[in-house]
Amino acid sequence: RPLLTALESLIWDVPDYPSPGILFKDITPLLADHDTFTATVQALADAGRDGSGATVVDKVLGMEARGFILAAPVALALGAGFVPVRKAGKLPRETHAVSYALEYGEATLEIHTDAVAPGERVLLVDDVLATGGTIDATRQLVEACGGTVAGVAVLMELSALPGRAAVGALPLTALMTV
Ligand code: IMP
Repeated sequence: RPLLTALESLIWDVPDYPSPGILFKDITPLLADHDTFTATVQALADAGRDGSGATVVDKVLGMEARGFILAAPVALALGAGFVPVRKAGKLPRETHAVSYALEYGEATLEIHTDAVAPGERVLLVDDVLATGGTIDATRQLVEACGGTVAGVAVLMELSALPGRAAVGALPLTALMTV
């Protein structure tokens, strides 16, 4: 599968970043390669379509910061709205907030309370699924708005970590598993 081969060569391992013992996956070489970035966005967008190719989500959510880079073009590809899920204190209006444990450290994520309307269906997009804490917190934010998570799409799943369990019964699309 050509996309997988390209992803493997354009996502680089950086040892001991951002702290000792962490092997960081650097996606910036992928983003700089137009053909691979295009194919990546198309493959992630398929997670928001049904078998006939129709878009089945109203909104695509991206998590700060690398999730933004992937989720915004996915939203455009699907003809859906884009919603930023941001770190604490960055959104200017009323928010819902959820705190959670990261692979390294702790974080609080926020969403504007009106970013997802009650009953809307949402696709979550991020670069890496590690412990699943980010996805689980974002699912709680969507549900606080009254929306439903229809699926999760990530570039990469780290299979040594329990991310897939955190995603639970939600449909999960991972373009590669390492
Ligand atoms: P989780 O919440 O533990 O699943 O971690 C996923 C979040 O941490 C995502 O938002 C990723 O952007 C970030 N993350 C965790 N590990 C890596 C990595 O190796 N490379 C890039 N981002 C990572």
